[in-house]
Amino acid sequence: MIEFINVSKVYPNGVTALEDVSLHVERGEFVFLVGPSGAGKSTLVRLIYREETPTQGVVMVDGLNVGRLRRRDVPFLRRQMGVVFQDFKLLPNRTAYENVAFAMFVTGHTPRQIRRRVPEVLELVGLRDKAGALPSELSGGEQQRVAVARAVVNHPKILLADEPTGNLDPETAWGIMELLVEINRRGTTVLVATHAQTIVNALKRRVVRLEGGRIAADHAQGVYERAI
Ligand code: ADP
Ligand code: ADP
Repeated sequence: MIEFINVSKVYPNGVTALEDVSLHVERGEFVFLVGPSGAGKSTLVRLIYREETPTQGVVMVDGLNVGRLRRRDVPFLRRQMGVVFQDFKLLPNRTAYENVAFAMFVTGHTPRQIRRRVPEVLELVGLRDKAGALPSELSGGEQQRVAVARAVVNHPKILLADEPTGNLDPETAWGIMELLVEINRRGTTVLVATHAQTIVNALKRRVVRLEGGRIAADHAQGVYERAI
């Protein structure tokens, strides 16, 4: 589903964020991406949804060479994936319902399809009774649930999450991670860049560790800590 082949990323300012990274993520996998700040986690995620392009090497997503996509084909790529960020990135003047509905509207769904699907996905994230609330009326955990609902409303093949619990207290963070696990259980490939050490260690999923832009470890039932 996701394949990095000898990928390097050097930003215009000369910083090498990734160096010769090769990584294969199967359809349906759940992968934690860990490593210290500056290790290249966000860059790796941004290469997958084509916020950045590789300096060297090839990034493949579901058979598409992401770095070589024509500009007009980028929306097609993005429709295959949902993305969740640390800071939620909700539309502040739109309700929870409208934030989720908007993602369907811009991808050309009919009002009827939207009316049927949005309550379903708000139910999935446990926010059916908060549909009419503005982001400012929701707790951080609830705002992130709206962001997750928005990310999965169009049934993406891949869910990318970059520090999704970075702004949340540990208990709320658990709720969000359990939600991501549930979405994976329903068939979506999930990649989560995170510092949530306790959760990573408890869930015993695949852990890919980046250090200085290189893959330092990749274990099927990994832990957060560096192996010494
Ligand atoms: P992480 O997500 O693991 O903290 P990042 O991918 O954000 O790592 O950053 C990797 C390296 O690339 C860091 O040295 C960071 O300062 C640098 N970097 C990240 N984004 C940019 C950018 N847009 N322009 C220049 N350098 C960047
Ligand atoms: P948490 O302690 O989990 O961060 P909050 O204390 O922010 O949550 O909010 C607790 C509950 O009150 C949440 O269900 C939230 O939706 C609701 N709430 C918070 N602020 C407002 C508000 N300004 N108007 C209406 N409901 C609110």
